[in-house]
Amino acid sequence: MFIGLLLRGLIILIFVSGSLVVGNFITRVIAFLVPSPAISDLLLWSGTVVISAVMLMGISYYYVYHGFGSQADIIRRQPNKGNKVVLTFDDGPSEIYTPQILKILEEKGAKATFFLVGKHVEQYPELTAQIAAEGHEVGNHTYGHITVPNTPSPQLTAQIMRTNLVIFQNTGSYPPYLRPPRGLYDMRMRRIAMLLGQELVLWSLSAQDWHPRATTAGVVKRVVEKAVAGDIILFHDSGSLLATEGSSRGPTVEALGPIIDGLRARGLEISTLEEFLA
Ligand SMILES: [Zn+2]
Repeated sequence: MFIGLLLRGLIILIFVSGSLVVGNFITRVIAFLVPSPAISDLLLWSGTVVISAVMLMGISYYYVYHGFGSQADIIRRQPNKGNKVVLTFDDGPSEIYTPQILKILEEKGAKATFFLVGKHVEQYPELTAQIAAEGHEVGNHTYGHITVPNTPSPQLTAQIMRTNLVIFQNTGSYPPYLRPPRGLYDMRMRRIAMLLGQELVLWSLSAQDWHPRATTAGVVKRVVEKAVAGDIILFHDSGSLLATEGSSRGPTVEALGPIIDGLRARGLEISTLEEFLA
């Protein structure tokens, strides 16, 4: 515990000081290339701070979504899977949007994976059962859509195990997949997943349907144009920026049909995670 904290502090220190050094170097190069008396020491240092901050944001963004090293236990995409892509829906079930999404998936003959929030499963047990009964896969997205790295270990374990239990009670199946909210995981979550026999599944393409200004056309264009074989595509059938539900998922619902058609027109096959990972 103590060593872990110490290591984390050390890594942060290295990143902060490293980006300050690089930021200062870049600012000096710019000042050298654009010689001007207006570039005072103050400007030099503010330039350093801005460039370092941007670099740190980039590093932390990359770290959150990609981690460092090979991380063979974290599934984001499958590059050698022929023409398959997987559709995943997070944060549900929602009594408004999930039934509409299920209807479209049925009409299009497509299967998807739903990463459910445990407390929503308890709220909407029939919808949970319906998702599984219609042949879709169900994964665990924690009980209360927590931020994993901030959650003490006993609560983290409880969040995951309680969700496994309510999913099992309502679908009759143990969820084989686990997805940390916002893609934020840590070593403890990787160990818990291993102990519970669950695969940690992230995504390689976000529909960005969570964005408050998301539009149907924007979501369709983004997914259909960017998807490549092997992608795991992230959508949301519930949730909101701050709470676990409440945002409109209208664009997601309206975009889904055109996205399935568009992906198929590009020769991509919509697959379950099980087939995809086989
Ligand atoms: Zn989520």
